Amino acid sequence: MTATTHRPSEVATLADPQSGSDVADLSMFVAGSPTSAIGGATFDSYEPRSGRVWATLPRSGAEDVDRAVRAARAAFEGPWGAVSAADRGRFLTKIAAVVDRHREQLVVIESRDNGKPVREVRAEIDAVVRYFEYFAGVAQTVLGETHPQAATAFSYTRREPVGVVGAIVPWNSPLLMLAWKLSPALAGGNTIILKPAEETSVSAVVFAQLIAEAGLPDGVFNVVTGLGEEAGAALVAHPGVDKIAFTGSTEVGKHIAATAANDLKLVTFELGGKSPTLIFSDADLDAAVHRTAYGIFSAAGQTCQAASRIFVQEAIHDEFLDRFATLARSIRVGDPLSERTQMGAQISAQHRERIARYVASGTQEGATLVCGGTRPTEPPLADGYYYSPTILDGVNRDMKMIREEIFGPVTGIQTFTDEADALAKANDTEYGLAGSVWTRDVARAHRVAAGIAAGLIWVNTTRTINHLVPFGGYKQSGYGREGGQAVMEHYTRIKSVWVDLQDDLPNWYAD
Ligand code: NAP
Ligand code: MG
Repeated sequence: MTATTHRPSEVATLADPQSGSDVADLSMFVAGSPTSAIGGATFDSYEPRSGRVWATLPRSGAEDVDRAVRAARAAFEGPWGAVSAADRGRFLTKIAAVVDRHREQLVVIESRDNGKPVREVRAEIDAVVRYFEYFAGVAQTVLGETHPQAATAFSYTRREPVGVVGAIVPWNSPLLMLAWKLSPALAGGNTIILKPAEETSVSAVVFAQLIAEAGLPDGVFNVVTGLGEEAGAALVAHPGVDKIAFTGSTEVGKHIAATAANDLKLVTFELGGKSPTLIFSDADLDAAVHRTAYGIFSAAGQTCQAASRIFVQEAIHDEFLDRFATLARSIRVGDPLSERTQMGAQISAQHRERIARYVASGTQEGATLVCGGTRPTEPPLADGYYYSPTILDGVNRDMKMIREEIFGPVTGIQTFTDEADALAKANDTEYGLAGSVWTRDVARAHRVAAGIAAGLIWVNTTRTINHLVPFGGYKQSGYGREGGQAVMEHYTRIKSVWVDLQDDLPNWYAD
């Protein structure tokens, strides 16, 4: 293997948007060391704001994955297995402090890697720090139980780590998705191999480089970069991996579920969404307008929770649409590194094409394009992957753009008559990640929250999540939960221990 080291200045260069045409040659992290792929292959990473190649990364194959799995197994069975829960918590506290200390560099690097405006990324890095801080505490709260047995017996459960975890994450919130998986995995005593998305592997390897300061034993946290069909598939197929924690598309999730079935690996899935927003005529319309805009246009619409199906009660349709479209047209799309930018770039040229095809399919099927559907043609934005906030009215359940996840800044508006009609329409989807209800009627808010078939409901808000509250889907949005105490179910397993208390254990075969 060829080992390369990160020059200390490398992180600073990546965090410097003036670094011109420099292309950083980055390493991944296996067994505590920066390393290349065994065969020396690399792939390019593009900066969505400019469309330029800004980094190259190791393109791992099955041999690289195998090396990482062996390192993770050795750490699990070796030094990491001997670390107490309290000390695992201390490592997590140190990681939180390192991220906090390098916050501004990480904000710029993540924004360059992903195209999301710095104002949004800053909030995400805050959340990353909070996840590590929270799970530092959780490490010591993962308890077993005892049972009310008769006096002749005693039984208890132990919550043991699952072992070696393979974590595969998408490109839309790279460091946050990393934190969602790494923090509970370490709290539970597991070791982990992360396969970041090929479009956004830069921030993951920078993170691995920076947290070396926290002093985790070698092999506890490994980052293997590469392509999904190569490195990702090898991780899923590897018999030495005990669990796959996957966030990504429903299509790839199904493929992973089938592969993982071969050796019955544990799996958890956070997949796609097509989340409904129900706006009743008694709602605070101002709040509903700006928060629903945030629900669909933040992250440039590239979020699994996106408010991509909006249902408005008939009486307020025209007023809502008028105000919503006015706000959408006012959104400042631009360079994600500018503090003024409200919506950044899409992840790739290819993804933007896909979004444009969905919009075209909507109008071909009879929807009305209210605003958006365009890309900037003037420099400097013409070179980046920008797309304007897009609203289609008069959509219906049969349209491709309503049935499928677009993962872009595109939403469709429909109307409903009453509560029953609203719920029927909201639930008419194969997804079930999130949903939002807007009303001043408390009883109705709770009825609708209970009635939407999804794992996360917001009342008079949207796109609110944090480390305290479980997050995850119903239906084809996946299974398992992230965040809160609930996630520890998926990073530990229960061992039951029986102890007999009788001096004289009756002999079943005595007579
Ligand atoms: P994706 O294509 O499914 O990719 C996700 C990850 O899986 C990437 O790291 C990808 O690597 C890897 N991968 C691809 N094919 C694989 C294979 N055959 N075996 C193993 N790994 C493989 O999803 P995406 O387009 O990057 O991300 C968008 C999707 O993620 C959307 O559907 C969105 O809803 C979902 N998402 C869900 C949540 C949630 O919490 N529910 C959160 C965020 C995003 P490459 O990048 O190299 O292809
Ligand atoms: Mg992909």
